[in-house]
Amino acid sequence: WKKIDLHRKSKDEIYEMGAAFNHMIRRLSDNFEKQKHFVSDASHELRTPLSIIDSYARLLKRWGAKKPDVLEESLEAIVTETDRMKKISDQLLTLARSEEAEALEITSFDIASVCKQTVHSFSTSFQRTITLDAPEKEVIIEGDESKVKQALYILLDNAVKYTEQDIHVRLKEEGHHILLSVQDEGEGIPDSDQKHIFDRFYRVDKARSRSTGGSGLGLPIAKQLIRLHNGDVTLDSKPGQGSTFTIRLPVVQS
Ligand code: ADP
Repeated sequence: WKKIDLHRKSKDEIYEMGAAFNHMIRRLSDNFEKQKHFVSDASHELRTPLSIIDSYARLLKRWGAKKPDVLEESLEAIVTETDRMKKISDQLLTLARSEEAEALEITSFDIASVCKQTVHSFSTSFQRTITLDAPEKEVIIEGDESKVKQALYILLDNAVKYTEQDIHVRLKEEGHHILLSVQDEGEGIPDSDQKHIFDRFYRVDKARSRSTGGSGLGLPIAKQLIRLHNGDVTLDSKPGQGSTFTIRLPVVQS
């Protein structure tokens, strides 16, 4: 903090300082509000599986040894909900870590080959048709390869989870940027949900997302990881026709 001699300042300067100070306080209080919401959403998301575990554990305590069907159902639910809690806490950790640009391990790597490997592994694991349209040659960019890969995984994982139709991955160069898009031919995302889709814990259909193990943290993580690289992730979706998520990344980190 620098000591400011107010007597030497003109009225205009003091007025400007006051306005800047007001603006700073407003931003701090907005951030504080957002943080409060986030903590409350996060505890709610963790409490839901915890309550399910709690009730099944009580059921087990009371009937487990006597009723094999209760034993089986309870253990199944406890394992599923524990996995869900583990996933949410891992994602929260990733989100917290991806706030810091210093955490990036920047190298030069071939994004075309990342796309080829990822598309191949998703098509094989999920037995889905995923087409790839990418330059034959290497497309070298600077960035944290594992974090860029993680963002692409999230987009592909969603396309696989939420749609049954074919998926198309496209990579192209545009000036000093690359555009990497994941397009699906699924049901798309309603217009009213599109502006919230990158919000933490936001899900279009909570029940459906829950049944596929979703927590509403995938897209915010993908966006934050790409923003750390001075890029962005955007959505273009037409309900009934499908969705296209596009990663835009600068070729060189400045
Ligand atoms: P989740 O863990 O629920 O998948 P995300 O943040 O990755 O969280 O996605 C948020 C929501 O956006 C999902 O719950 C789903 O409703 C919707 N969504 C994401 N990708 C798609 C897609 N390709 N098609 C339709 N809906 C999608």
